[in-house]
Amino acid sequence: MLDVANIRKDFPIYNQGEKPFIYLDSASTSQKPQSVIDAVSNYYNSYAANIHRALYRIGEEATDAYENVRVEVKKFINVPDTHSIIFTSGTTESINLVAYAWGLKNLKKEDTVLITEMEHHSNIIPWQLINQKTGSTLDYIPLNKDGTLNIDSLSAELLSNTKLISISHQSNVFGTINPIKKILNIAKDIGAITLVDGAQSVPHSKVDITDLDCDFYVFSGHKMLGPTGVGVLVGRTDLLEEMDPFMGGGEMIKTVKLQGSTWNDVPWKFEAGTPKIAQVIGLGKAINYLENINLDNIHKHEQLLLEYALNILSKNKDITIYGNPPHRGAVIPFNVKNIHPHDLAKFLDTDGICIRAGHHCAQPVMDYLDVTSTARISMNIYNDKDDIDQLAKSIEKTIRIFN
Ligand code: PMP
Repeated sequence: MLDVANIRKDFPIYNQGEKPFIYLDSASTSQKPQSVIDAVSNYYNSYAANIHRALYRIGEEATDAYENVRVEVKKFINVPDTHSIIFTSGTTESINLVAYAWGLKNLKKEDTVLITEMEHHSNIIPWQLINQKTGSTLDYIPLNKDGTLNIDSLSAELLSNTKLISISHQSNVFGTINPIKKILNIAKDIGAITLVDGAQSVPHSKVDITDLDCDFYVFSGHKMLGPTGVGVLVGRTDLLEEMDPFMGGGEMIKTVKLQGSTWNDVPWKFEAGTPKIAQVIGLGKAINYLENINLDNIHKHEQLLLEYALNILSKNKDITIYGNPPHRGAVIPFNVKNIHPHDLAKFLDTDGICIRAGHHCAQPVMDYLDVTSTARISMNIYNDKDDIDQLAKSIEKTIRIFN
């Protein structure tokens, strides 16, 4: 396992006095190492300037710092071309960008967008909005009870109408690591465009975009130790070139006339307005931090913690764990008998334990499970077995209080 005591020294939130701090909600957002925080404040302290336009030293410094992160992202997830890397505000904006800039132009009445029943709302709502505008249809790869996808149930008729498949790489509720290559191969066979939502994968295991060979891949900075307000869309360059801009404004143009304008090259065509300069620079440091620890080591550490937590939680007869996917990240949804998950989260908080309780922005999953909400723990490099022991103890204490 990783040397968690040492890792925590890098995270200032862990070094704030004697109060216990057990953070088990990284699927929602991750904590930030000092190097990321320093990179953001260093930009504001030392070279705060707009990019791509300032003809003075700090402007050039800021431009270089920002554009260098594109190169960092390219290396980090093996993207063939930096021009296909667009900085957005997060996964949500990245998916909306594809839905509006690609979907609005290409989806017709007879077309189906195929997603899955386990999607986060951010991979459902944009397509529903585009359906309303284009008359296209939304259909779903159904869930199995164990939290996996029932891919074999897809009919030939449904597939023949499918123009785009948009799926999460890893579920934010069950932690299921989906058989992404199998789904991408189906998409290739039917000539469908593909989008993979990597919000829950990129922070926890090695992702290789060249190997995956999907059309679009999206993720958020804040879930991978980076700042909030920044995300990435990786797209196939030829598709990005064909697409209309998503937003109009400064930066994204080549020429502007009173009537009619022309667009900047990709990726800048999709980065309208003053970009998220500080956040992108912070994201670069988050990538450096993850690379230093090494994604394979991170994955191993989290798998061991997952196994440990599943083992302990499943011993408590009052706990129901939802799903049991064979390939999963370190995420566990559960409920405790006779205790609403919101009450559980509030009681655990009195012991300094942060967990998520709610519908996890995946209401269709809650409907499938026939619950309104669940508790959820999700683990990261700064968690250890002691966190899980403390969690188990605090759950037991809460059960005693409620019964
Ligand atoms: N997809 C998945 C699988 C997620 O877990 C999340 C965040 N919970 C999102 C999309 C949305 O990410 P963001 O809020 O950072 O845009």
